[in-house]
Amino acid sequence: MSERVKCLIIGSGPAGYTAAIYAGRANLSPVLYEGMLSGGQLTTTTEIENFPGYPEGVDGNQMMMDLRAQAERFGADIRFGIVTAVDFSGKPHKLTIDGEKEIEADTVIIATGASAKYLGLPDEHKYQGRGVSACATCDGFFYRKKTVAVVGGGDTACEEACYLASLCTKVYLIVRKPFLRASKVMQERVMKTPNIEVLFEHNTLGLFGEDAVEGAHVVRRLGEADEERYDIKIDGFFLAIGHHPNSEVFKPYVETDEAGYIKTQPYRPLTNVPGVFAAGDVADPIYRQAICAAASGCKAAMEAEKYIAAME
Ligand code: NDP
Repeated sequence: MSERVKCLIIGSGPAGYTAAIYAGRANLSPVLYEGMLSGGQLTTTTEIENFPGYPEGVDGNQMMMDLRAQAERFGADIRFGIVTAVDFSGKPHKLTIDGEKEIEADTVIIATGASAKYLGLPDEHKYQGRGVSACATCDGFFYRKKTVAVVGGGDTACEEACYLASLCTKVYLIVRKPFLRASKVMQERVMKTPNIEVLFEHNTLGLFGEDAVEGAHVVRRLGEADEERYDIKIDGFFLAIGHHPNSEVFKPYVETDEAGYIKTQPYRPLTNVPGVFAAGDVADPIYRQAICAAASGCKAAMEAEKYIAAME
């Protein structure tokens, strides 16, 4: 027999845990499944200095443990497990955990986040947290007066390059095509920033460094007759080649945009399925900040409470 819960939260980033805190305090006895990466993306960064309330900054893992403890304090039942299938065709909503356990939920809060895309180089893994980052806003501050590279040619890459240029001595922007894909305004901003050097038609082959990143092996015009391979000296390597929202399993029922971000109503975390809410990066292609995710988790739990009150 499947278990029945009032409020099922999927994901353990700031959105999921904040939803659990609010749902717990609203007596919804929330059950939260942590997903693939317990604690979410913030556990892959070092220190978080832009979350209000921590004047000295806070370690990413510590902050997620604090949020988890706060959710547990209000009765959240936090479990290991991944949602592998859903059936949102009727009420209650049906979900399968790890391919075997069936669970029924009156309300579901999807807070599965988004994952930064990586190039797939083994060195990205090797130097993760030691020079490799996918979030300039989170980690840029650690590279003050240093040299860094940003990979990508879209709006995110240009925005991150400009942000880093305000902190760093020099920023390389590594772009695989001979042009930027970013909006005209962002392109102009990049071109007008004197300490950004755009390396068009470049790809990264690998990174090097004793303990942390000290440089990158790059190639210009890969596979062409005039192909040129050389090294650049950098202290930080930032990926900005896009994110993919973790929405795949919900797509048969929940509307997403063409990039896979779950569509919600303006100002409200309501999806097209009544009783199913989305919070955090899985529904946010623009801001992708912990504080925004936490705020939307709060809203989702408040909506879940309202939905259950109307049901009862
Ligand atoms: P985009 O998909 O727009 O751009 C990704 C960039 O990464 C492209 O230049 C792409 O190259 C490059 N890229 C992808 N894969 C690789 C790879 N394997 N190797 C090297 N380069 C690679 O993603 P963004 O995150 O920049 O933007 C997502 C959306 O969010 C866009 O619609 C954007 O406009 C929007 N956005 C808006 C902002 C704003 O308005 N302020 C700020 C940030 C984002 P290629 O061009 O060759 O495909």
